[in-house]
Amino acid sequence: MTEDKKMKAAILYGVRDLRLENIDVPKIHPGEVLVKVKAATTCGTDVKIFQRGYVGGVIQYPTVFGHEWAGDIVEIGESLSWMKSGMRVRAGNSGPCLSCIMCNKEKYNLCENMTWLWGAYAQYIKVPAPVVNSNIQEIPTNVTYEEAAVAEPLACCLYGIEKCNIKTGDDVAIIGDGPIGLLHLQLARLKGASQIMLCGLIDQRLKIARDLGANVIINANKENCIKKIKQLTNGYGADVVIEAVGLPTTWEQALKLVQKGGTVLEFGGCPASTSINIDTELLHYADIKLLGSFHTTPIHFKRALNLISSRKIRIKPLITDKMDLDNISNAFQTLSSSKKDLKIAIIP
Ligand SMILES: [Zn+2]
Ligand SMILES: [Zn+2]
Repeated sequence: MTEDKKMKAAILYGVRDLRLENIDVPKIHPGEVLVKVKAATTCGTDVKIFQRGYVGGVIQYPTVFGHEWAGDIVEIGESLSWMKSGMRVRAGNSGPCLSCIMCNKEKYNLCENMTWLWGAYAQYIKVPAPVVNSNIQEIPTNVTYEEAAVAEPLACCLYGIEKCNIKTGDDVAIIGDGPIGLLHLQLARLKGASQIMLCGLIDQRLKIARDLGANVIINANKENCIKKIKQLTNGYGADVVIEAVGLPTTWEQALKLVQKGGTVLEFGGCPASTSINIDTELLHYADIKLLGSFHTTPIHFKRALNLISSRKIRIKPLITDKMDLDNISNAFQTLSSSKKDLKIAIIP
């Protein structure tokens, strides 16, 4: 079916240069599948790439764009007996090689021969064999395509938050009222945090945070987050602090919100070549755990979809708009110029 067939796909030519073009539908080889995309969601990472190029150097222009998606299988390569045409699936945006030094240590997020999958903002997407091998799933019937697409950022948050070892009854502070902050908020609640304090800048988003279970919401434009969080924790600060913005200033702020013996997760990716200052006495005498987090692993993708299906994590409040693939450029202009939307579902 893919012979000579064309499809619409969003191609990124450079910073803020996203164009919809007619390109060939990818050809399928053994071990691969072709999926008709039913929904693709926008992501903070996509917005950052659109605005300033890719930090890690994985992307070379021009490139197909988008990485959170779900759809229906339309063509199956040889040797994949368990798949059926028409099956509703989501796949991760990565497939670890399972044989490099990092994979041998089960650090699949750090695989040195990772197969990355881009091209979600298109009518069809080809899932390469390494992703089919470890990171594709059938979508449960009670989960919509849009919700299934958001398994990707949820999997990243889940991977990060598990390292924080939140204990039942802990105080958790989150910096950031975007989709990532709101996913961490829901995960922290599931982990048994008693008081969740979320700092942000947009009242509309903070209201959603309140609805999703934040005990305290703080608008950093109007109130001093550090002072407020110290007040709410008898001067100590939070047991666990999660940074979900991706700026050196908020990375530094996270270190000021944690109590002694506590944990800081610097989750948001900062612009390239930036650095932060760390008070060595704080790290030493206050015995702080300082954690980074990159990407996620196939097992976290599977757990993320389970959490969505069991309604333990709510995705719908994070999808604030829907647009046709024809409007993809508009969608990214909108996301770059206003903070009104959290995520836009792109429907091919
Ligand atoms: Zn994403
Ligand atoms: Zn590997």
